[in-house]
Amino acid sequence: MPAKKVKHVLGLSGGKDSSALALYVKETRPDLDVEYFFTDTGYELPETNEFIDQLEEKLGYIHRLNARSLNNIEGRGELEFKSLLKKHQNYLPSQRDRWCTVQMKLKPFEQWVDGFIADGYSVKNYVGIRADEPARVGFMTIEKPIESIMPFREDGIVKSDIENILQRNGLELPAYYSWRSRSGCSFCFFQKKIEWVRLQEKHPDLFEQAKAFEKGENNNVTGERFYWMGKGEPLETLEDPEKIASIIANHEKKVERFKKKRRRNALLGDIGGVCEMTDLDEIYDDVEGGGACVTCYK
Ligand code: SF4
Repeated sequence: MPAKKVKHVLGLSGGKDSSALALYVKETRPDLDVEYFFTDTGYELPETNEFIDQLEEKLGYIHRLNARSLNNIEGRGELEFKSLLKKHQNYLPSQRDRWCTVQMKLKPFEQWVDGFIADGYSVKNYVGIRADEPARVGFMTIEKPIESIMPFREDGIVKSDIENILQRNGLELPAYYSWRSRSGCSFCFFQKKIEWVRLQEKHPDLFEQAKAFEKGENNNVTGERFYWMGKGEPLETLEDPEKIASIIANHEKKVERFKKKRRRNALLGDIGGVCEMTDLDEIYDDVEGGGACVTCYK
C-alpha cells in the first residue's frame, strides 16, 4: 500500500512564538517540506505585516489566507468587517462570542486545508505551544482530520528560549512589542487598556477605525450597546486626559510590583529580567494570551 501523503503546515500569526517555531522547525527538521501560512484579517498592525515580510525572507513563501473570498466580500479593511458584522446581527465580537476568530482566521484556514484533504493528504499542523504552558490553552480547532504537532513541547523549549531562536536567525522581536503584547487585529478586544491608550498614540487612524465600529447600527437586535473594552466603556472615554493618566499610573504600579516579585524570585534562583510587553499577561495576573486563541496571538 502506498504511504499516505502528508502535508505539513505551520501558521504564522506575526507573534514571537509561531515565528520562532517556524525557524526552529526549519533548523531542527530540515527534511520536512513545510507550507507556511498567515491569515490576514485585513486589520493586522502595519508592524505585523512588516515582520511577516521579514520572515518570508528567512523561510521562503508564506501563503496569505483571508476571509474575503470566502464571504464574497470585495475590498479590504472597513468594508469587510462591516459585512461580517452584518452577518452577526451587528454584534461586535467579544470574549464571549469570538466569531471574528472563526470567520477571519479558522474558516480561511479550513478552506485552504480542504484542498489538501480533497487531494488525499493528511495534514499535520505545527503549533507554537511551548513546554512551559498548558497544552490546549485557548486552542480553537476545526472539525477536520488534522493532527496538531507541538515541537516546542516535544523538545522542552520554554519562553526564555524564544528570543534566542529569533536572534540566532537574525531577527529581533516584531516592532509592536515596544507598545503592545500581541499580534492580531488592531481592534482586538483582548488588549488591555494600556494597549488601547498606546494604539491611540501610535496608530490614531486604527484607533479611530475601532471607535467607529462601536457606533452606528451595532447591536441593533436588543438595542444594547457593546464596546471593545467592555460594557459601558466606549473607546471615546480614552480621549479624556485624566482617564489616560489613571490607566498609565495604574499600569506603572503593576509593572513595578511585578519587577519586585521578579527580583525576589531571582534571589531564589529563578529568571530575572522583565520585558514589559512580552510579560504583560503575567504583570496583569492573566493567563498567557489573555485567553485569546493561539491562532491569533502566538
Ligand atoms: S485578533 Fe482578536 S479580534 Fe482579531 S480575530 Fe483574533 S480574537 Fe478576534
